[in-house]
Amino acid sequence: MSQLSLQSNTPEPLKETLFVQVLLPLPLPKTFTYRVPDKQAEKVQHGVRVIVPFGKKKIITGVIKEITNQAPADYEARYLFEVLDDYPMIMPQQFKLFEWIASYYMATEGETFNVGIPSGLKLSSESKLQLHPQFNRDDSPYIFSNLEDIVINLLKKEGLLSYQQIAELASTKEISLLIKELLRKQVILLIEQVKEKYKPKTEKYVKLNKSYLQKDKLEQLMELLEKKPRQLDILLKYLQQVPVFQDAELNENGFAKAQFANSGLSDSSVNTLIKNDILEVFDKEISRLDIDSNHQYTADINLTDFQEEAKSSLEEQFAKHDVNLLQGVTGSGKTEIYLSFIKEVIDSGSQALFLLPEIAITTQMIQRVRKIFGKQVGVYHSKFSDAERVEIYRGVAEGSINFIIGVRSSIFLPFNNLSFIVVDEEHEQSYKQFDPAPRYHARDAAIVLGKIHQAKVLLGSATPSLESYFNAKNNKYGYYELTQRYKEVKLPHIEIINMKKEKAKKQTNGDYSHSLIEQLKVEVEKKKQAIIFQNRRGYAPYIQCETCGWIAECENCSVSLTYHMHQHQLKCHYCGFRQKSPAVCLNCESSNLQMKGFGTEKIEDDLHLMFPEVKIQRMDKDTTRKKYSYQQIIEAFENNETQLLVGTQMVSKGLDFKNVSLVAIVDADRMMFYPDFRAHERAFQMMLQVSGRAGRDKEQGQVFVQTYQHDNPLFYYLKNYDIKGFYEKQLEERYQFAYPPFYRLIKVILKSKEAVQTQKSAQLMYNGLTQIFGTKRVLAPHEPVIAKIKNIFHQEIWIKLEKGHPLDQAKQKISEVTNKLKEDKQFNKVRIYFDVDPA
Ligand code: ADP
Ligand code: ZN
Ligand code: ZN
Repeated sequence: MSQLSLQSNTPEPLKETLFVQVLLPLPLPKTFTYRVPDKQAEKVQHGVRVIVPFGKKKIITGVIKEITNQAPADYEARYLFEVLDDYPMIMPQQFKLFEWIASYYMATEGETFNVGIPSGLKLSSESKLQLHPQFNRDDSPYIFSNLEDIVINLLKKEGLLSYQQIAELASTKEISLLIKELLRKQVILLIEQVKEKYKPKTEKYVKLNKSYLQKDKLEQLMELLEKKPRQLDILLKYLQQVPVFQDAELNENGFAKAQFANSGLSDSSVNTLIKNDILEVFDKEISRLDIDSNHQYTADINLTDFQEEAKSSLEEQFAKHDVNLLQGVTGSGKTEIYLSFIKEVIDSGSQALFLLPEIAITTQMIQRVRKIFGKQVGVYHSKFSDAERVEIYRGVAEGSINFIIGVRSSIFLPFNNLSFIVVDEEHEQSYKQFDPAPRYHARDAAIVLGKIHQAKVLLGSATPSLESYFNAKNNKYGYYELTQRYKEVKLPHIEIINMKKEKAKKQTNGDYSHSLIEQLKVEVEKKKQAIIFQNRRGYAPYIQCETCGWIAECENCSVSLTYHMHQHQLKCHYCGFRQKSPAVCLNCESSNLQMKGFGTEKIEDDLHLMFPEVKIQRMDKDTTRKKYSYQQIIEAFENNETQLLVGTQMVSKGLDFKNVSLVAIVDADRMMFYPDFRAHERAFQMMLQVSGRAGRDKEQGQVFVQTYQHDNPLFYYLKNYDIKGFYEKQLEERYQFAYPPFYRLIKVILKSKEAVQTQKSAQLMYNGLTQIFGTKRVLAPHEPVIAKIKNIFHQEIWIKLEKGHPLDQAKQKISEVTNKLKEDKQFNKVRIYFDVDPA
C-alpha cells in the first residue's frame, strides 16, 4: 500500500509518463486526466476502476476510459491513488451505451455510469473524510474530505497528539507533515473499505485430512473413534454428506462447518477433530444468491403448435429485422416462447437478457426460469442487497452467469457477448427512469444495446405501446400476433356496467352495482376467486367539509391528503406527510366532514361487511412494504388460502392464477380522465391487463367494468378486444394534436422553492425556445398536475419536434438557452431538468 502517491510535486523520472482519462460518477460533461504512478502502471487497462483525488476534499471511484501519454494542456494532472481491478469491470460496449444514453437523454456519461454500476462497486459519498476547519489550509497539498471524528480518533489512537496540541501547532510546518501522513492513512482506509465491499463471501468449511482417503486408514480411524462416540457421529455425518468412498475428489468440496451444529452435533467435538488433524478447516467462497448449486436442472420447454408457429415466424423475421414485436393475448404463453429462444442462445454459448417491469419478477417467474437454466441465471432486482448485486455484476463480467432476468437497470450489466434481448410487457411505464438522470427508457435503450452487440431484440406485450405498434405497422419492426390462449381457453367476457343508470334504478349499494355483488356471491359460493381492482390506495382520496367546502391538503404539496382508516391518519402520497385525521373542519369547525371517493382500503372494508366469512387480502403499496410481503400475498392467493384479492395496478402485472373467474374494475373513470395525452392508452392497457388475470385455466372468465361514462368509445373497443381499432383511433388523435409517435417530445422542467422565480424563469426559457422553434412547437409554460411537491414549485415546458428534425442540433440549442438562463444570477436557485420522450 505504500505505493500511494500523495505528493504532486515529486520530480518526474525520465521514463515516459502514463496518463489515463477517467470517467467519474458525477454530472460533469467530461472525463478527467490523471497521472499514473509508476508502481501502478502495469495494472492500468481500459475499463478497470481507479481511486482518484477530486477537488481538494474528495476521493472518488472512477473508471479508466482512455490511456495516453499526453498530459492535459490546460491543467496539471494529479496522480491517481490506486487501480482496483485486475480485469475490466466496464466493457467497451458499456461505454458505448453510456455515450448513447447520455447524448440521447441530455444527461452526462458520468451520471449514466453512476446509475449503471451497483453502489457496492463505488466508494459511497458518505465515506469522504473532512478535516477540522483549522486544518483546511490551502498550502497543504492534500486536504481531502472529511469526518473530523475519524481524524481525531486516528490521532488519538496513534498516540500522537491531543486535539489541543494539534490546534496549537496548526500554524507550524510539522502540522502540515502530520496532516499529510494522516490523510495518507485515511486514503488507505477508504481504499480498504471499497475493496471490502467487493469481497466475495466466505464460510468455514471442513474436509477430511488427505491421509484418511484410503479405505483401510479410514476404517482404522473409525475403530479408534468408537470410544469417542461424539467425534464418531461427526465423522459419520461427514461421510454421509461427502461420500469419499465413492469419489475421493468430492472431499475437496468439503462440508460447511456450521452444518454440524445445525444437525445437533457438538461443536467442541468438531474442534477436537480439527485439532487432531483429522478434519481440516478452510475458507470457501460461497454465493450470496439463493441457489442450490448441487441441483440438476432439466426442465424442458414444449411449445404448443400455435407457439411453435409464432416462434418460427419470428425467426424468419429476425433475418430482416433486428427488432420484433410479439403481440400475444394474456395467457398465450409468451414467456414460453421467450424462454425457448433464450435456451438456444445460452446453449450456443452466448448471453441473453430478459427485461421485466420491477413488479413482474415474481417467485413464480424465477422458479420457472431456474428450473430450466439453473445456476446460469442471475436475477437482478432492486430488492436485492448491494452485495448480491455486485455478485451478479461480477458473474456477468467473469462469464459464469450468461442469462440475466432483471429490471431496467440490467441493461447496464457488463455483457460482452450478448445475442438476445427480451423486453416483456414492453408498454410498461416503469421502464422509464424518472429520477435521477439519465431519464432513460429501458425498452429504447435495450434496442440500442442490441445494436451495440448485434443482438436480436424481442418486444412482447398483450397491449403494446402505441409507439411499438406504430413501428411494427410501418415495418420498422417485425411483428407477430398470437391470438390463442394456452389450452385455447376463451378470453374473459367483458361486461361494461353503466353506473349512471344503475344508480337511477337504485341498483347500487354504495360504490358497487348489484350485478357485481351478485356475481361475486356466485363465484364465492363456487369456491372460485376474484380480483377487485382499484388504482388508488388508502381509504378515501380526500375529505371535505360539507358546510364550507374545505378540503384537507398537504402542507408541502398541492394535493389533497388521503384518508387511511386503519391508522386513522391523513397522508400525503407525494412527500409522506401525515397527520391525525381531524374530528372537525379546520376552517369552520363544522363536524360535517365527508369522505370522498374510495381507495383499496375502503373496498377491502366493504367486502368484509358483505362477505364476513370469506378470506380477503389487499395488495397495494401499503401492504407490501416488507421484503417478502408481496410474495406472501401472491402465494396465499395462489394456494387458495385467500379468496378475494383487492389491489392497485400491482395485481394487473403478469400474474398467473388458475382459479380466478372474476375480475372487477370498480372505477374505470379514474384512470381515463387524467390530464395526460397517454391517459386513454394507459387506461385501456391497464384494463385489458387486469382483465387478463381472469379465466386462465379451462373455463372462460368474466370481467365487470363500472363506469359513469358508458358511452365513451374506449369501452366499445375494450369489450370487443378490438385493440387495433382502438390504437388506430388513438393514432389519428396523436397525429392531429402533434404527439408521439408522430412527434418527439422534450420536456423541460424547472424547479425551485420560490413560486415566482420558477414562473419567471420558465417564461424566459419559453421566450428563448420560441425564438428557435417557433410558437407552434413550444407549449407555453404550465404547472404540472401537481404543481408543488415537498415545497418545491414546478413548471414545465413541452417542446414538440417533427420526427425528421435534427435532434442533436435541437438539443444543442436547448442547452444554449438553458446556459443563458443559468448565467442570470437571480435564477441561480432554479434547477433545470430535461426529459426526452417523457412517459
Ligand atoms: P402470457 O405471458 O402470454 O400472459 P404465460 O406465459 O404466463 O402467458 O402463460 C400462461 C400460462 O400457460 C402459464 O401458466 C404457463 O405456464 C402456461 N403455458 C403456456 N404455454 C405453455 C407450454 N407450452 N407448456 C406448458 N405450459 C404453458
Ligand atoms: Zn368547514
Ligand atoms: Zn405532501
